[in-house]
Amino acid sequence: MNQTPVLKINASRLQQRIHELAQIGKIGETGVCRLALSKEDRAGVDLVKSWMEEAGMEASIDPFANLIGVKRGSDPNAPVLMLGSHVDSQPYGGRFDGVIGVLGAIEVIQTMTEEGFVPACNIEVVAFCDEEGCRFNKGLFGVRGMTGKLEPDELERTDKNGMTRREALIQFGCDPADFEGYSFQEGRIGAFLELHIEQGPVLESLDAPVGIVSGISGPLWLTVEMTGFAGHAGSVPMPMRRDALVGCAKVIVALNELVQQVPGAPTVGTVGSLTVFPDSRNIIPENVSFTVDLRDIDLARRNALEAELLSVIDNVAREHGLAYTIREDTNSEPRYCADWIKTTMREEAEKIGIAPPELMSGPFHDSLTMSYVCDYGMIFVRCKEGISHNPKEYSSPEDIALGTELLYRTAVQISTERWRIQP
Ligand SMILES: [Zn+2]
Repeated sequence: MNQTPVLKINASRLQQRIHELAQIGKIGETGVCRLALSKEDRAGVDLVKSWMEEAGMEASIDPFANLIGVKRGSDPNAPVLMLGSHVDSQPYGGRFDGVIGVLGAIEVIQTMTEEGFVPACNIEVVAFCDEEGCRFNKGLFGVRGMTGKLEPDELERTDKNGMTRREALIQFGCDPADFEGYSFQEGRIGAFLELHIEQGPVLESLDAPVGIVSGISGPLWLTVEMTGFAGHAGSVPMPMRRDALVGCAKVIVALNELVQQVPGAPTVGTVGSLTVFPDSRNIIPENVSFTVDLRDIDLARRNALEAELLSVIDNVAREHGLAYTIREDTNSEPRYCADWIKTTMREEAEKIGIAPPELMSGPFHDSLTMSYVCDYGMIFVRCKEGISHNPKEYSSPEDIALGTELLYRTAVQISTERWRIQP
């Protein structure tokens, strides 16, 4: 089907709001800088709050600086359907990352209100505080706070000007003392839905405006250190060398080949950082430390690749006379979207004449934390050339409208008959 589907949501109102929010913390023509808990962030949150109220929600800010809007349903005791994302940005960010998930969710509620639809359960729309994590070097703050997953030293983390998160929260208008009385009520939330730009090039390559996310692949992060022996670059004969950088280079090439073994699989592997010692053109490299980032939605496959990589490292080290150590920095498991939510999305997509492909999310999102407390589903919107965390980030109004329409229809389905059977 190629005709333009009839949308219930108001696409021009949504675009207008995206444009208006992008004026706060605007850099250049299309860029945005709204660092978490900054003045700009607060101005953005206040504006978004006014739209929540306009859409028919009661809105407030919780102790963790999450903005939460509530649309009342007929059964206040039923598990809540939660929708949302974040409106904070990277220092050199774009207009759409996180924003479409929050403003799209508000558009969903406003459409429900205008259509006279009363959900069976309360629906909450959340703009989570500090998803990006760039200011205090640790992200997903608001969603972890809300779900009771903060770490002990969290409030003492400082930004580059030495301001603690505690001070920033107070400046924002929150009182960290309120954390004490807060506890997350297990089972309160029935499901979480997040609309987000893809931040990758897969949908564009498939010529698909929107996609249904299969899950968020957790990364495996390793730091590998290989040690050989330094020597004069002019005098040590090749067969006698123990060159750590040559060993490292072989591992990089091997990783690149390993992750491409299964054609079409979403597996990715990256060596993104390299430290060479002594780092001189005239000395055979003695020591190299490098990072490995390995991701796959299929944990068994990722584990098998890890094992293969470790044996490559061992063989290369033997061949070149190198000692090595491997440190595991992060080992996150993939978190899968709920099948029943994906099915609902597929059925609703069909009704508007689209068949969204399923794809994995490499980056993490607020959904990652939510996945530990409830079922979740994600809709991705195509973005130009996969560019994100960059002022050049772009998704077309038509694609955003389609993603939001799918979010609307999915939310309506979930908050009516389906709700009582599934969770
Ligand atoms: Zn985001």
